[in-house]
Amino acid sequence: MNTFQYHSANRATNAKEIFSQHENAKFLSGGMTLLPSMKHGLIQPDHLIDLSRIPDLQGIKDNHEFLSIGPTTKHKDVAASDIVQRSIPGLAYLASQIGDPQVRARGTIGGSLANNDPAADYPAGALALKAKMITDRREIAADDFFTGFYSTALEEGEVITEIQLAKPLKSAYAKCKQSASGYALAGVFIAVFPNQEIRVAVTGVGAGVFRWTEAEQAFLSGQFKPDLQRDDLISDLHAPSEYRVNMAQVLFKKAAQHIQNN
Ligand SMILES: Cc1cc2nc3c(=O)[nH]c(=O)nc-3n(C[C@H](O)[C@H](O)[C@H](O)COP(=O)(O)OP(=O)(O)OC[C@H]3O[C@@H](n4cnc5c(N)ncnc54)[C@H](O)[C@@H]3O)c2cc1C
Repeated sequence: MNTFQYHSANRATNAKEIFSQHENAKFLSGGMTLLPSMKHGLIQPDHLIDLSRIPDLQGIKDNHEFLSIGPTTKHKDVAASDIVQRSIPGLAYLASQIGDPQVRARGTIGGSLANNDPAADYPAGALALKAKMITDRREIAADDFFTGFYSTALEEGEVITEIQLAKPLKSAYAKCKQSASGYALAGVFIAVFPNQEIRVAVTGVGAGVFRWTEAEQAFLSGQFKPDLQRDDLISDLHAPSEYRVNMAQVLFKKAAQHIQNN
């Protein structure tokens, strides 16, 4: 790993200021993706700006219409939160299924969304739950935020300062884990809102998270084997695309049945 300078920010504005003063800087949240990427030489930032000590960027609040989660809130805290368990149990379950206890103790929701790994869990929850990513510059709807393979609508130096999630009537997540890392070979999140609004989001199967419209219609009509055809399906050493598609269908049924029985 190359040398770099570490900066600890105490406010979001302070983090922005440090960023603007240095070339080749990166924000650091839990470091669960950033540090391994640096160790492998995939990226070589000269400055790391640590967001994890900024009090305003942490914690979970219920704002009646939506849940507000600070980007540096750790996976384990989302999983254990009474607020999340009560309002969006599918999201608490999703957080409890990420990686292993060490990853959940360090990794953060903001880092996961900003990274947008095609096999990460949070993007599925965020897309199904009509998330809004509030940044230091603007508000970005989840529908516009995830732009493809490890890419998001975030601009250079833009910081997520809050994640707002709509509260559904019901929610469920089902996942098939890649056995070595715990990442999703396939993951399906279903959120049911008033007026028969259903959102189904899929991770692990395509080049990035996507909404599965056939499954949304299938949920409404009680048919639990929706079609899934895309031109960006993932096939790799862990599983061919046919397996992932089949698994997504199985997981959709599992999550749908969970919603119907609870
Ligand atoms: C062994 C292992 C197993 C894992 N298993 C899973 C799994 O099963 N499911 C899963 O979903 N994930 C998994 N992960 C990833 C884990 O969830 C990480 O938390 C996630 O990748 C993000 O890392 P982080 O929160 O530590 O952020 P960091 O690594 O610190 O940052 C990630 C990226 O986001 C940027 N960033 C961070 N915060 C912000 C912000 N507020 N605004 C703008 N940009 C920001 C950083 O600059 C960096 O580019 C695993 C990781 C490991 C190491």
